[in-house]
Amino acid sequence: MYQSQLFTKTAREAPADEVAKNAQLLLRAGYVFKEMGGVYTYLPLGLRVLNKIANIIREEMNAMNAQEVLMPALQIKERYEATGRWSDEVVDNWFKTKLANGTELGLGFSHEENLAPIVKHFLTSYKELPFSIYQIQTKFRNELRSKSGLMRGREFLMKDMYSFALTEEQHQEIYARAQQAYTNVFQRVGIGERTFMTFASGGSFSKYSHEFQTLSDAGEDTIYLSRTKNIAINKEVYNEETLQELEVSTSELEEVKAIEVGNIFSLGTKFSAPFSVQVQNEKGVSQTVIMGCYGIGVSRIMGTIAELLSDERGLVWPESIAPFAVHIIAICKTDDSPVYGEARSLYTQLTEMGIECLFDDRIQQSTGARLGDADLLGIPHRIVISERTLESNSLEYKKRSENDVKMMSRTEFVQLCTKKA
Ligand code: ATP
Ligand code: MG
Repeated sequence: MYQSQLFTKTAREAPADEVAKNAQLLLRAGYVFKEMGGVYTYLPLGLRVLNKIANIIREEMNAMNAQEVLMPALQIKERYEATGRWSDEVVDNWFKTKLANGTELGLGFSHEENLAPIVKHFLTSYKELPFSIYQIQTKFRNELRSKSGLMRGREFLMKDMYSFALTEEQHQEIYARAQQAYTNVFQRVGIGERTFMTFASGGSFSKYSHEFQTLSDAGEDTIYLSRTKNIAINKEVYNEETLQELEVSTSELEEVKAIEVGNIFSLGTKFSAPFSVQVQNEKGVSQTVIMGCYGIGVSRIMGTIAELLSDERGLVWPESIAPFAVHIIAICKTDDSPVYGEARSLYTQLTEMGIECLFDDRIQQSTGARLGDADLLGIPHRIVISERTLESNSLEYKKRSENDVKMMSRTEFVQLCTKKA
């Protein structure tokens, strides 16, 4: 893409009411636009990042054989009355609305009440179990505080998966596969090293649930972590019994702040029983299906990465989710100059190789401002082509995550890209 054609622009300052670093950077870089607290528009660059995160998650869910659907935001009141979740005392962050005829509806904050009846409709034999269904969809939650930018939205993108099993054994197998799939996701988006599977309270159907917590001072959660034993416990469940069970002692644990990027939960029959999601087992005995739910905050991951992997000059995207792989900057006066020609030709070559490039063709703007923009946008590989580089038959290469600038020939750089492609 030619940068001059991008309708968004960078800004020196973020809106005064935005306190979260992730949102400040993303707003300044033109990745998102703030509509109101906790509600953002994803602009072209931001949407590219969000879609890449979503696609990595999609690949990992598909790899565990989960099937993708898309459920509605509008929710039927009676469904939630059946599970006791319509009440504002039970679910305190509902957004509710009405049809023209006065019928009350909710805006989805989670989708157990949708899928249980759908599965009931289709399920005819225990032999069809187990299976998992997921979606990547917008959730609505009337969050009290929305000061964490993309990390706590009132309208946000979530991947939610639900598993359906006949036996506890089947359920545990899916649960374990989901744990692995989640570990893969966080590794692939670039926060694997600082994301820990964390024991949290499990509700009424299992002792524990598992949260995926990314270490960050900007996190709203507090966890106790043993790096050597690779064990983490949410402060909310932290007690003697848990310590004993996990064979870890207080002295081995450090208290750290973290961001909950994912959460997996055994639901037992909490949502299948109210909708009679049942099948006969091989002995002809009717059994209620066992469910699990598995959430990942897609937009929260984007905010988390912007928050963590950035420096004083701007964003620093991991390659796997960057909006573009290479940022080519032509420093020259006119678009018929050899410098511009060389930059455009490199852009065309890389694009034809399937490498996503942003071509900074805004030659009328100052070099300083353009290099500053490149740092703010955070594209992993930066190439500068100028009269000086052309004279020495080379180009200037810099990784956004490193400080050193390297001179190399175009052939060398293309080879480097070929290895990555
Ligand atoms: P939290 O404890 O942060 O309020 P939760 O436990 O209510 O989240 P779940 O209902 O399990 O979250 O949702 C699954 C995932 O969706 C969470 O792990 C988190 O990554 C993400 N998520 C939850 N609430 C929000 C929000 N308001 N904005 C962005 N992402 C969210
Ligand atoms: Mg939570």
